Amino acid sequence: MDYISTRGRSPAVDSAQAVLQGLAPDGGLYVPRVLPEFDWQQCLKLSSQQMSQAILSALLPDIPNMGELVKRAYTGKFETEELTPTVTVGGMHVLELFRGPTSAFKDVALSMLPQLLTAAREEKGITQEIRILTATSGDTGKAALVGFQDVPGVSICVFYPQGGVSQVQRAQMVTQEGSNVLVCAVEGNFDDAQTGVKQIFQETQGQALPFRLSSANSINIGRLAPQLMYYFRAYKDLLDREVIRLGDPVDFSVPTGNFGDILAGFLAKKLGLPVGRLICASNANNVLTDFIRTGTYDRRRPLLKTTSPSMDILVSSNLERLLYLLSGDTALVDGLMKDLREKGFYQVPEELLTAIQAEFDGDFCDDARAEEVMGRVYRDYGYLMDPHTASGWAAAEAYREKTESKNAMVVLSTASPYKFSTAVLTAIGGDTQGSEFERMDRLNAITGVPVPKPLAELRDKPQRHTDVIPKERMLDFVLSR
Ligand SMILES: *Cc1c(COP(=O)(O)O)cnc(C)c1O
Repeated sequence: MDYISTRGRSPAVDSAQAVLQGLAPDGGLYVPRVLPEFDWQQCLKLSSQQMSQAILSALLPDIPNMGELVKRAYTGKFETEELTPTVTVGGMHVLELFRGPTSAFKDVALSMLPQLLTAAREEKGITQEIRILTATSGDTGKAALVGFQDVPGVSICVFYPQGGVSQVQRAQMVTQEGSNVLVCAVEGNFDDAQTGVKQIFQETQGQALPFRLSSANSINIGRLAPQLMYYFRAYKDLLDREVIRLGDPVDFSVPTGNFGDILAGFLAKKLGLPVGRLICASNANNVLTDFIRTGTYDRRRPLLKTTSPSMDILVSSNLERLLYLLSGDTALVDGLMKDLREKGFYQVPEELLTAIQAEFDGDFCDDARAEEVMGRVYRDYGYLMDPHTASGWAAAEAYREKTESKNAMVVLSTASPYKFSTAVLTAIGGDTQGSEFERMDRLNAITGVPVPKPLAELRDKPQRHTDVIPKERMLDFVLSR
C-alpha cells in the first residue's frame, strides 16, 4: 500500500518502508495515499487484540504476520486482556489508556512499534541492528524502553536530563532490565538532551556505523496506527452495555500534546467508526485551541510549565497529517509548514478551517481548573484522575454545555493518577510532604485506589543505569556500547 509524504516532495513508499523510515526525506509525514476499505462493523465483534490485528493489517499491509506481532506486543503486559477498559463516571465514559506496563497511554503504541519495526526490518532484508535514540522529558523514555526490551534486531538508547525528570520517572528508567537497553542522564535540560540526539543524527549521516539509527517518536506511522484500536474498543464497550445502538455517533474528548492520540480518533472515523465530534483538550499551552477556533497556528508564545507536562508543547507535529487528510493538497501543506518554520505561524484557507471545525472542537484548561475538576470528580463520584485527563474532562463538560449534544461522551484518560501524585493529592486536599514514593502511599491510604504494581515495585528494584555525561559526550556513549 502506498504511503506518500504530506509535503509531496518525496517518492511514495510501501507501509513497511514508511515504518522503517519514520520521517519522509522531505521532512513531511507519511500518510496513506488512499485509505483502505475496512469492515468496521465486523471489527466491533472482536477482542482487543483481534481489533489491533484487523486495523494494523488494513493500515500496514506490507508487514506480514500481524497476529503474531500483536500477541507478542500485548499478551500479559497489560492489567486486563481488554487492554483499555472504559468506565462510566457521572454521565461520562472514561477510556482508561493507562493500564499498561508504565501507567501511561504511550504504552499502547510503544508496545507495538518495536514489533512493527523488527518485522519491517526483516521484510526489507536489513541485517544491521536498528538502534533507537530517544531524548525524553519523562514518560516516553520508559514506555519505549519497555516496548523495546529484548526485541531481536533492535536496541534502544534513552537520554534524560539529569534532575529534569521526576523521582518516579527516573526510577522507572534506571531500573530498566533487558540486554538491548541503554539509559543515560545528560547534564543539562530536556532541550539539551533533545538537541544532542538531533545532532547525533546529523553528524552521523552517511557514516558507516555498526547499526542503523532510528527514532521512536510519534511522527512514525507505526506509532500512530496502534492507537486506533481503543476508539473501536470504547465504542464496542458502549454498545455491549447498551449505552448506544450501532451507528450512534459518540464524541471523544482527548488530552492533546503532539496531536497523535486525537488523530488516531480521526483515522478511526475515516475507517468507518461512528465518531461524532473530536474534542481537542489542551492545558494552558493552548496553541491548538486558538488554531481550531481561528485557523491561525501561532507558536510565537512562551512555553508554560503546567501540572500536565506531557501536553506542554508548542508545535504539534501530527497536525500536519490532518491538514493533508482534510485538504488533499501537499503543496498547501508544504507551504504552511514553511511558514511555521520561517515566520512562526501559518493561516489555513477558509474551506480548510470549515472542514476542521466540522470534525473538531478545541478547548483548554489551566492548572487551577484541572485541580478543581480532579477534586470535584473525586468528591462527587469517588473517581481519581490525573491532571492530563482532567483537561479532557473539563473540555468535555464545556462542550456539552455549549452544544447540548446528546451523544455519548468518552473522555480519554492518558495517565494513572499515581504518576502525578502531587497534583492529585493537592486537588483532593491531601498533604503533599515527603518523597514522591511517600506521596504515592499517602494517596493510596486516603483513596484506597490501588497503586499500579509496576510503580509500587520500583523502589525495591536495583539501579542498573547510573551513567551521567556532559552533552558533548552523547555520541561517544551511543557508539561505545
Ligand atoms: C503523550 C501524552 C499526551 C499527549 O498525547 P499526544 O498524542 O502527544 O497528543 C497526553 N497525556 C499523557 C499522559 C501523555 O503521556
